[in-house]
Amino acid sequence: LTLHKNAKIFVTGHRGMVGSALVRRLQAGGYTNIITRSRQELDLLSQTAVQQFLADEQPDYIFIAAAKVGGIHANNTYRADFIYQNLMIEANLIHGAHLAGVQRLMFLGSSCIYPRDCPQPIKEEYLLTGALECTNEPYAIAKIAGIKLCEAYNTQYGRQYVSVMPTNLYGPNDNYDLETSHVLPALLRKAHEAKLRGDKELVVWGTGTPRREFLYVDDLADACVFLMEQGYAGSLLNIGTGQDVTIRELAETIMDVVGFAGRIVFDSSKPDGTMQKVLDVSCLNAQNWEASTPLHKGLRITYEQFKA
Ligand code: GDP
Repeated sequence: LTLHKNAKIFVTGHRGMVGSALVRRLQAGGYTNIITRSRQELDLLSQTAVQQFLADEQPDYIFIAAAKVGGIHANNTYRADFIYQNLMIEANLIHGAHLAGVQRLMFLGSSCIYPRDCPQPIKEEYLLTGALECTNEPYAIAKIAGIKLCEAYNTQYGRQYVSVMPTNLYGPNDNYDLETSHVLPALLRKAHEAKLRGDKELVVWGTGTPRREFLYVDDLADACVFLMEQGYAGSLLNIGTGQDVTIRELAETIMDVVGFAGRIVFDSSKPDGTMQKVLDVSCLNAQNWEASTPLHKGLRITYEQFKA
């Protein structure tokens, strides 16, 4: 099961926050045969192109970090794009991997696959036990389909296709577009710009009471490579810190890191989304892995990177 350091590892979505962190972590771990393709070089929406590429390249391992992603507003607005593109990317890659004889693969999703009102912290077994949050249902349905694709190839064909579900991520190469980004990069940028302009206020969407968990993306990449190296073969695993903060607390921590001393104003015309989202990470911890970057530290590194 052990992969050699020269095993051919295909990282999809290598320009994104997660894919780029995976490439950094693999390089740091001494892996010498990492392959990546830009969107121009390989269109993951094209079944023909993906099947041809995988048949030619014969990777030993594939990380599916390519996805159409975004925050609450983008998910809710571009509903067709989110379900269609994610279904195509994962169906093409997972089925294509199987046809090419690729035995091992890791599929990355997100914690929004779990039911809107499920008990907290969220255990893996809560999947498909209730209705989804409406704002990101198209994305979640596509990601659930990806998990079930992996499971089906494992049971029918004996593949080892692992699905991991990270909590909310942040770090270098995040999306800082205020319309489409997640809350953490959005507030980091808003606080930074408010400070530069000498504003007195920071506008935070919703009520500030929803609770979210945040994982530094290099910790996620470390967990993924760790699981790959361990030969982990379970079908679904949460990756997070197991600790959450309110959106208000997040905003205050960001203001502290940025050095912006204004007042928080809540824009209640914007949706809160799910009231609490925190993962149960006891299965991951039982594999002997724990997140190592506290929120304040991860935010400091991320803010330095954002300014650069
Ligand atoms: P979610 O975790 O899927 O709900 O997606 P987001 O990260 O976009 O939003 C998380 C929470 O942060 C929601 O309650 C938002 O209303 C709240 N929030 C506060 N300010 C902002 C902001 O400027 N941008 C975004 N995207 N969310 C914000």
